[in-house]
Amino acid sequence: MEISFKGKRAVVTGAGKGIGRATALALAQYGAKVTAITRTQSDLDSLVEECPSIVPVCFDLGEWEATEAALKDIGPIDLLVNNAACAKLQPFLDVTPDQFDQSFTVNVKAVLHMSQLVARGMIGRQSGGSIVNVSSQASQCALKNHTVYCESCATKAALDMLTKVMALELGPHQIRVNSVNPTVVMTEMGRRGWSNPETVKTMTSRIPLGRFAEVDEVVNTILFLLSDKSTMTNGVSLPVDGGFLAC
Ligand code: NAP
Repeated sequence: MEISFKGKRAVVTGAGKGIGRATALALAQYGAKVTAITRTQSDLDSLVEECPSIVPVCFDLGEWEATEAALKDIGPIDLLVNNAACAKLQPFLDVTPDQFDQSFTVNVKAVLHMSQLVARGMIGRQSGGSIVNVSSQASQCALKNHTVYCESCATKAALDMLTKVMALELGPHQIRVNSVNPTVVMTEMGRRGWSNPETVKTMTSRIPLGRFAEVDEVVNTILFLLSDKSTMTNGVSLPVDGGFLAC
């Protein structure tokens, strides 16, 4: 099966590191014109060095006005990957209002805002499009200390339902919206939460395939959902979890 994004214009958020960075590089490799968004300029510098065709845009997705300003001149977009998220592990009883607000602002509200801005353009041009939200297995299974953490139950459960509502309302405009729901991936974020070998063993023992996911396994699923190989797939939360959620 061959996938091509030739002639497509894509935006990837959180493209400085991990899954977002690998997604931006893969989209560019398959022919898309990619705009990469993150908040650390040095990450964008190294990304552009690695792939000079990528257009870098640096701002904090948690800031509503900065997002409006940055997207104003971005041009028509066909594909959007809402990948950025923040990560704070916290026991339920210790979660503060600030941490709660920060997590929901970046992991849910920014997805709503980015998608509104991009979808309005798609609808105006009657071009259709595809949006993929990067969620988590934790949207559907309670994990200890994950109350609002980006991997977590609360923000990612909200993201899954946002995905479905977007699919419902944007579908008539031929805009498909889906999420990918990975298990643990050993990116910078993954390493922060899963450095203890005992905790790792406990989690991998609950995954039928017996291991965490690789970055490329998540990226390939994102590419599939963005591509014309999934033209009837809309509103799904697709696990990339080795069977964790099946148990
Ligand atoms: P990562 O390595 O920490 O990369 C996240 C990227 O998002 C970074 O470039 C980060 O920039 C950027 N970002 C975060 N907040 C931002 C903001 N407010 N504005 C702009 N950019 C922002 O994370 P990852 O592991 O690749 O995770 C990517 C996605 O997969 C997330 O949605 C995460 O919840 C999901 N996921 C990850 C795992 C896992 O185990 N890794 C499992 C399931 C789901 P800075 O570094 O500058 O903050």
